[in-house]
Amino acid sequence: MPRTVLVTGGNRGIGLAIARAFADQGDRVVVTHRGSGAPDGLLGVQCDITDAASVDAAFSFVESEIGPVEVVVANAGITDDTLLLRMSEEQFERVLDTNLTGAFRVAKRASGKMLRAKWGRLIFISSVIGLYGGPGQVNYAASKAGLVGMARSITRELGTRNITANVVAPGFIQTEMTDVLPESRKAEIIKAVPAGRLATADEVAAAVTFLASDSAAYISGAVLPVDGGLGMGH
Ligand code: NDP
Repeated sequence: MPRTVLVTGGNRGIGLAIARAFADQGDRVVVTHRGSGAPDGLLGVQCDITDAASVDAAFSFVESEIGPVEVVVANAGITDDTLLLRMSEEQFERVLDTNLTGAFRVAKRASGKMLRAKWGRLIFISSVIGLYGGPGQVNYAASKAGLVGMARSITRELGTRNITANVVAPGFIQTEMTDVLPESRKAEIIKAVPAGRLATADEVAAAVTFLASDSAAYISGAVLPVDGGLGMGH
């Protein structure tokens, strides 16, 4: 059954791969962007997830154009890495405000309509770093770990209403971000990953579409790693 799907940050990177995967299976997909416009063939809406009014307006747009959002993929995220001693409070708060509070704003706005429909899927894109940690990533890791507690609390609140909330935790993905890493750093990363390679964004998208499917109705509060075994046990 086709669903209405909103992917934050679906205009590029992993979010775009996720949006295309939903579109390919026949769902009605909307991606958010911050002024870049929507990629070819996808419906776009401007939205800054650090602003609750902007999130509200984006949902209202989707509702008026195609109907209530049934599947939310909270994918938009940023990094601002530096060592703890050098990290300013502003740097910490900015990353938390986008990655964690941004996901909260989106989930909160979506949940009212999901409750009414007695069906919904909330999928949060975390990172292996959330539970594994990363030097220079105190802000990012805290934000990504926070998503786990959030998804599990939502599961406890809304579980009886056919609403699931899950976390996908990608490892190192082949994106523009990793393309620019020096070859030596890439080799180090690949050595640490049991699978011996980076993942494609499509491999992350496959986990997300699965969690959104009817087959995943009994999976909630889960953390699904897509990391080639890098973070196992965490
Ligand atoms: P990109 O940097 O390629 O894209 C980030 C996306 O987030 C863009 O669409 C960007 O929009 C959007 N975004 C950032 N801030 C905001 C905001 N305030 N409001 C709305 N949208 C915003 O990231 P990736 O595709 O690499 O990563 C996607 C997600 O996956 C992130 O949450 C990231 O933490 C996570 N992840 C990535 C990994 C990787 O290896 N790349 C590994 C593990 C997790 P705009 O185009 O307007 O800037």
